Amino acid sequence: TLCSFQVIRCRAAVAWAVGKPLSVEEVEVAPPKGGEVRVKIVATGICHTDECVLEGSFPNIDFPVIPGHEGAGIVESIGEGVTSVKPGDKVIPLCLPRCGECSFCLNPDSNYCLKCHVSEPQNLLPDKTSRFTCKGKQIHHFLWVSTFAEYTVIPEYAVAKINAAAPLEKVCLLGCGFPTGYGAAINIAKVKAGSTCAVFGLGGVGLSVVMGCKAAGASRIIAIDINKDKFAKAKELGATHCISPHDFSKPIQEVLTEMTGHGVDYSFEVVGHADTITAALASCNMNTGVCVMIGVPPAGSVIAIDPMLVLSGRTWKGTLLGGWKTRDCIPKLVSSYLEKKLNVDVLITHTLPIAEVNKGFELLRAGKR
Ligand code: NAD
Ligand code: ZN
Ligand code: ZN
Repeated sequence: TLCSFQVIRCRAAVAWAVGKPLSVEEVEVAPPKGGEVRVKIVATGICHTDECVLEGSFPNIDFPVIPGHEGAGIVESIGEGVTSVKPGDKVIPLCLPRCGECSFCLNPDSNYCLKCHVSEPQNLLPDKTSRFTCKGKQIHHFLWVSTFAEYTVIPEYAVAKINAAAPLEKVCLLGCGFPTGYGAAINIAKVKAGSTCAVFGLGGVGLSVVMGCKAAGASRIIAIDINKDKFAKAKELGATHCISPHDFSKPIQEVLTEMTGHGVDYSFEVVGHADTITAALASCNMNTGVCVMIGVPPAGSVIAIDPMLVLSGRTWKGTLLGGWKTRDCIPKLVSSYLEKKLNVDVLITHTLPIAEVNKGFELLRAGKR
């Protein structure tokens, strides 16, 4: 039978309160309701956005919550009416879903779905109930995917079926970090061959931006980070120059403007700080420059800019998930990975069991991911 009515007991990393480390607990995972699928998560990445949840800087998150949104797994059971996946299928959970029916999904230029947790800020499932309990308490979901659990329940339109040959411990990165960075360069900035790019922040997402700029044929890629340990990998992936703001007494936007004459053609902010967002905007050329914001600043942040920065012609954009229409595009990225056209393995620095999830966050905080 395709439908399962059993509650599964398994491990999950639960965040009980803001500022507390994750706690690996036994949780109960209810069967999927109609239109939902229950997925056995095989591997998950840690993205800085999960750290934002733990710090309490991600908007509209109720605790306790099971974070994680960059995973890959196998469908265990399906609820009534589910037709696009079946038990045994390999899938990537989509932290930006795609209902395929709303006006944004129907717009060829949009990858944002109106039936998502961003439009309707609450961190239970779409029907405002949870499938997780622990010690008798209801546990909240995160981005409708909660990949820090051995089993999780996800709306059908927030999973993408992928090639059965895909190694899940690698392609989990195609759930967030890689498509976000690579797509920001290719789909959002639309980097042109021969251009100059600047990338602020060289975590997994920033390095993926570097790969996207390189693939688009940029001739100069200036990589910026305060942690110089990141430079070797950035160079390997295509950065032509690596600089640290700490090595200059003047603001980094002035350094970049001097290095390039009038500023870069494309700048990318992949840190999530108000000061690097304004620096990235000011680093691109005053007339035709394009600045793409990718980093997630703390909830409630306000940025003051000199309006002349935009009035003179600059374009200031942002992106969720790099502009990909997730349900259609992520399986294609998996195929490109299997054809060795994309290198995701290079972004994996450590592999840990779920019991050591807090060590993973310590490595992320130390910038050694
Ligand atoms: P990460 O923590 O691995 O990397 C951040 C990097 O920024 C680190 O190398 C750090 O040393 C560097 N940094 C810190 N301060 C800096 C400064 N002042 N100047 C230059 N570099 C500095 O993070 P990540 O997982 O790569 O994520 C990066 C950002 O992207 C986060 O804000 C995350 O929330 C966001 N994100 C957004 C989306 C989206 O859809 N828009 C998706 C995924 C991640
Ligand atoms: Zn992410
Ligand atoms: Zn939609």
